[in-house]
Amino acid sequence: MKKIQMVDLKGQYEGIKDEVNASMQEILESTAFINGPQVHDFQKELQEYLGVKHVIPCANGTDALQIAMMGLGLKPGDEVITADFTFAATVEVIALLQLTPVLVDVDPKTFNIDTEAIKRAITPNTKAIVPVHLFGQTANMDEIMKIAREHDLFVIEDNAQAIGANYHSANGNSQKAGTIGDVAATSFFPSKNLGCYGDGGAIFTNNDELAHDIRGIVNHGMYERYHHDVVGVNSRLDSFQAGVLRAKLPKLDHYNSQRQQAAEKYTSALKNVEGIETPFLEGKEDTHVYHQYTLKIKDGKRDALAKHLQEKGIPFGIYYPIPLHRQKAYLDERYNEADFPVTNMLVQEVISLPMHTELDDEQINFITSAIKEFLA
Ligand SMILES: *Cc1c(COP(=O)(O)O)cnc(C)c1O
Repeated sequence: MKKIQMVDLKGQYEGIKDEVNASMQEILESTAFINGPQVHDFQKELQEYLGVKHVIPCANGTDALQIAMMGLGLKPGDEVITADFTFAATVEVIALLQLTPVLVDVDPKTFNIDTEAIKRAITPNTKAIVPVHLFGQTANMDEIMKIAREHDLFVIEDNAQAIGANYHSANGNSQKAGTIGDVAATSFFPSKNLGCYGDGGAIFTNNDELAHDIRGIVNHGMYERYHHDVVGVNSRLDSFQAGVLRAKLPKLDHYNSQRQQAAEKYTSALKNVEGIETPFLEGKEDTHVYHQYTLKIKDGKRDALAKHLQEKGIPFGIYYPIPLHRQKAYLDERYNEADFPVTNMLVQEVISLPMHTELDDEQINFITSAIKEFLA
């Protein structure tokens, strides 16, 4: 059996090696390391793939979130509602911009932001909602957009984990995750579903004016050379990363379907095992692109199972072990433990299994057998 990896970037690289190597060579010869044609081409190709008017590449997903919020003109003191159960980058940029993060609980089935909790958290100072499409499954965007319209709030989708997922609205519309709210941020960190070979990110929007503002913000607030109209940042996707992403984008749907197939195999082996809850799939299969395949382990057995997997040489991840509202950096006396029953439970129950495009049946059987053996 091939050694099991949490993420197998090497195996995936083998399949695109010639193309990636040729692209890297071309960039080396051209010396167009910044803003080379690869960056422009990738931006166009991603716009087409997503069906969105504007993609603005930047240096990483955290920058993408920050720049999206800067572009919307959010001001210190504005309250931004987001999920308690997510990667820290989401709340970090809110705090950095001196906006006020308002963390709310999540749905126990989907792990995504609880729309009833959003409603309860709205105050006259609320300006935006940041849903995170956690682990690859889109949040309840119908309801979130409805709440946003009623209260005149911006919606910033954190799409770092769900690129390529589809969202099916109740009215029959189907849209790509990250193209529904006012603006979205994504990450091309190597282990993401569309990952480059270093850092990268992008902002998506259908709003022409916002896209224009953001294009200036990523480039030192310049709209005309050496005229700095607003305070900006320096955040660029470099040509090498764009070259890698151009080679991978045409394969993204295939990559995501390989993840979905691996997820199906995990689920069919584990769904009837006592003490395990397999991932809940909301609606159609293509709404979940399994950035992570995350189980809930009941009866306080998660940590013992983790130890068992470790002994068997099976990698796993605990995403996330501590709720954001209990992280030192984000403590806030307004938070009340009783408002976070789901996150407080999930941090004790979740465990993510190896998930990538190169998993084979032998590996999946080995992993699921080890889990069943332990829980039997
Ligand atoms: C990865 C990730 C980010 C940040 O992306 P970077 O490119 O690492 O800065 C933000 N939000 C979520 C939910 C993520 O998973």
